[in-house]
Amino acid sequence: MKLIKRKLRIAVITVSILLISLVAYGVYSLGVSGNRWFSSSVNTSLRKVKQGVVPGRIYDRNGIQLAGANNKGERLYHTDETTRRSLVHVLGVPDGTVKNGVETFMSYLLYAYDDSYVRRLSAAFSGQMRNGYDLRLSISSGLSRMITDQFPKDKSGAVVVMNYRTGEILSLNSFPNFDPLAMEGVATNPQKPYINNVTQWRSAPGSTFKVVTLAAALANLPDAMERTFTCTGAYQVGESIITDAGNATHGEITLQRALAVSCNITFAKLALELGDEQLRLTAQSFGLDDHLLFSDLVVENSRYPSKDRIAKELAWTGPGQSVLFVTPLHMCLVASAIANDGVMMAPKLLLQALDHHKQGKAQMTPLVYKQVMTAKDADIIAEAMRQVILSGTGTRAAVPGLKICGKTGSAQIDGQESTNAWFVGFIDEKTLPYACCVVVNEAGEGSRHAAPLARQIFEYIKTQR
Ligand SMILES: [Zn+2]
Repeated sequence: MKLIKRKLRIAVITVSILLISLVAYGVYSLGVSGNRWFSSSVNTSLRKVKQGVVPGRIYDRNGIQLAGANNKGERLYHTDETTRRSLVHVLGVPDGTVKNGVETFMSYLLYAYDDSYVRRLSAAFSGQMRNGYDLRLSISSGLSRMITDQFPKDKSGAVVVMNYRTGEILSLNSFPNFDPLAMEGVATNPQKPYINNVTQWRSAPGSTFKVVTLAAALANLPDAMERTFTCTGAYQVGESIITDAGNATHGEITLQRALAVSCNITFAKLALELGDEQLRLTAQSFGLDDHLLFSDLVVENSRYPSKDRIAKELAWTGPGQSVLFVTPLHMCLVASAIANDGVMMAPKLLLQALDHHKQGKAQMTPLVYKQVMTAKDADIIAEAMRQVILSGTGTRAAVPGLKICGKTGSAQIDGQESTNAWFVGFIDEKTLPYACCVVVNEAGEGSRHAAPLARQIFEYIKTQR
């Protein structure tokens, strides 16, 4: 009998501990990712809430209406097809085909989920629809449209532009895109146009990652910028031979020059000298391997490789090949942190939410995501990125009269004939604090196929000054 009692007591204690842990985890998850849970498709109460509410209107940063609704609560869109296509991944669509667009991720505002019971009751009794909150986004529809017009028509890819001082996203374009008024076949299209390539697609960022390797060198090698490396055009690591684009040979070269001309061999040597642990720590300080939980955007976590860290793999990680998985949005954050004295701002999409009586329901406040590196190191990398534009692989991103800094990349992907063209960069001017990341898949070199689009973005921003 005593034994049974004891076993029973242990069982009760065990079950209690499990229950308490479950409740604690539930409270924690709601706190950390409340609107992620709220906007998820498994939340059936949301569907009920949506009936009986006219969703709020969505405006761009300049007050241009991007989405409205009729009095039955059905979505109405901008009259211009290019505008609709340019914004489909930002706004999403009411049926959730695009995951985590504003339409679903900010549905708690668009459908006024926090409306008082008095208002709900009075609406129910009078038989009237309630009104959701109107949202003003940080997006520039003009810039988004220009990017859609200029992006190669037959390519997939991603473009994102943000204010590196505040984190405001000015444009977020994924290609291919589609018209929210012509949804037939979109969900079954093998090209998956509903995927947001800026936030959901992860890939090796090619040589744009060299800015991270350079940051690791600055953090760990006191004389990094004074040293020279030797590039003989081929460098054997294990059974792998590392070469440079166009079979270039750079000879004796400083790290600043190696970034400007994008010398793979120097950055491979640098990675081997730093070692996997130090390169990983710097990559992690830039947010790789973080569990990203931004308030306005759902972004896939970027990854520094954890398996097979043999010399060959490590050597290829230095120049950004190997099995790195990084989203274009994350590379834009990397460039932004360099531009912003080493401080990475959290990306923001929502400037303001107003209810039907113009009462504020949400207001954007800039939020520091993390201090990535010292301001001094950020300055040194920015100067090296300036040389990329002045006399290196990024000359096609130059804009007369603007101080542009950048880095090109041509990411080799198994099974692809052409490389993915990358460019990350920013305007180094107090009054124009903007950074961008451009990716054109299977296009060729970043210098030829991504940098020119970055130039057009910088030029557009300059004309809006
Ligand atoms: Zn070289």
